[in-house]
Amino acid sequence: MFYVPYPAATTPAPPAKNIDPGRVRFEPLFVAMYGDCHKNEVAPKLKAVDWLPQHNGGKVSVTTVNGVAEALAMVSLALDQLPAEFVKFLIPNAGTYNCRDIAGSSMRSAHAYGAAIDISTKSADYWRWSANPQAPAWKNRIPVEIVRLFEQHGFIWGGYWYHFDTMHFEYRPELLPQEAGGW
Ligand SMILES: [Zn+2]
Repeated sequence: MFYVPYPAATTPAPPAKNIDPGRVRFEPLFVAMYGDCHKNEVAPKLKAVDWLPQHNGGKVSVTTVNGVAEALAMVSLALDQLPAEFVKFLIPNAGTYNCRDIAGSSMRSAHAYGAAIDISTKSADYWRWSANPQAPAWKNRIPVEIVRLFEQHGFIWGGYWYHFDTMHFEYRPELLPQEAGGW
């Protein structure tokens, strides 16, 4: 989980081959912390958070474990202050909790713990959508301002991954330096 350092606060750029900082999770640890969604242990811990309330973004549900709901509420309030042209990247959001595995793998998605959010799909890029997913061509249209605000509250971004997923953010403060929202 810690082998590849997460490049907090750096300018987004194409990652080196198979460099996926934070995409590896030790599943037994995460299940112990957040619960096993297949045993209905995650859903009872979810809490609804107002998503960009000044822009009527509705509600998103994330876990209260590890303070994720409070952290996402802080992100939401910060994002709400961005200029209006940023809203289209954030609303409508593409979901938080979902009891599923990562597409094409048997590893659980961070969404299965209620500790992740996908922002709008409209400007999202994903390695599986590449013409050649064996050697995906990195692409990103998400403004770095959005990435910085998530990082400041303990969330990492899937846009730093070779197997990129630019709408994806998940709560991983252990990978962030303290000045960037880490523990
Ligand atoms: Zn996601």
